[in-house]
Amino acid sequence: MSKQTFVVDNVRRDFPVLNQLVYGKPLAYLDNAATTQKPQIVIDALINFYQNDNANVHRGVHALSERADAAYEAARLKIKEFIGAKSTEEIIFTRGATEAINLVAYSFGEAFIHEGDEIIISAMEHHANIVPWQLLCKRKSATLIVTPINDKGELDLAVFKQQLSARTKLVCITQMSNTLGTINPAEEVIALSHLKNIPVLIDAAQSLPHLPIDVYTLDCDFLVASGHKIYGPTGIGFLYGKKKWLEAMPPYQSGGAMISQVSFETTDFTHLPYKFEAGTPAIADAIALGAALDYLNRYVRHDLVMHEQALLHYAEEKMRAINGLRIIGEARNKGSIISFVLDKVHPHDIATILDRAGVAIRAGHHCTMPLMRQFNVPATARASMSFYNTFSEIDQLIAALIEAKELFHDA
Ligand code: PLP
Repeated sequence: MSKQTFVVDNVRRDFPVLNQLVYGKPLAYLDNAATTQKPQIVIDALINFYQNDNANVHRGVHALSERADAAYEAARLKIKEFIGAKSTEEIIFTRGATEAINLVAYSFGEAFIHEGDEIIISAMEHHANIVPWQLLCKRKSATLIVTPINDKGELDLAVFKQQLSARTKLVCITQMSNTLGTINPAEEVIALSHLKNIPVLIDAAQSLPHLPIDVYTLDCDFLVASGHKIYGPTGIGFLYGKKKWLEAMPPYQSGGAMISQVSFETTDFTHLPYKFEAGTPAIADAIALGAALDYLNRYVRHDLVMHEQALLHYAEEKMRAINGLRIIGEARNKGSIISFVLDKVHPHDIATILDRAGVAIRAGHHCTMPLMRQFNVPATARASMSFYNTFSEIDQLIAALIEAKELFHDA
């Protein structure tokens, strides 16, 4: 299919929520790392399902059920193709990245983690990629090892290499930090781990919306993502897993849809991917996630990335010119996320003042409390850009920041 030319003003017309005033000012939505806005095609997919096709999947023979089934499985195929997986059996629908990580922690953990084993994560992980491993280590008397990062927010690969050992049974690393924007060298992490036959889980919650990913080339063993961060609905995401692992792993949740035979004494489980999809799934949301990927496929991904990178560099340059503003996270390879602190102004106050100027950013620990400790800050303000953002929205952000600074510094 031929691709559309990327023109930001045209793209913005596809996202109805962007066209509004907040406190009388045009909305500048710069909170995309928390969740992205939805194009009309996604909203239409949700409406269309409930208006025309609503039925449960995998159980019925009537027309609506067959339509729901076909659309649900078509969405799985779209994900498979979007990330370059070999088969739809490797795509498990989950509620999001968090549930996908928990699935691996419970299921892979049950089968493959034993007393004395080690699991490696990095110092920049989201709580979703810390806590499930911490709990697993507790259950199994295993040890959680943390790879440090430097002051710029880059992974220390030399230490990582030393940490890999015969005890290491899994490496779980984010491909892009939701707080620092750092893009980690996932290919290298995977290659180094595979030299010792250690499987790797990639948290792509932040990277998938910004980087073209091909799991076949990347050669990761697991990859997790959330639909709502890639222009789809909330409550849907997926786990990619190599078939050899998924087949060897026991079910995570159990109940309807994941069985082939049940008696009161015993149960046989069904094949992939349904073995890991107990109960009625988020059918409309899965279909709408497929629509979000269709939307992205209209464009050359590189064009979207280039626009986001241009916004990032423009914003960083303007921010560096503001006295007393410190950017947290200055990795060489960064996605379009900027965390920052401003002298004498609490990040929550920054976010509140910016809100009154129509600028939506986030303030807090961003579910990365250990990272806040490393940078010795209680919280940061965070602006995160998508391809639908504009340079004039960055100007609006900078003007509001200068106003916030003057308000507090003159007080
Ligand atoms: N991993 C990263 C890097 C994230 O940024 C997030 C959400 O912010 C998650 C995991 C968890 O995603 P969700 O809350 O959609 O499950």
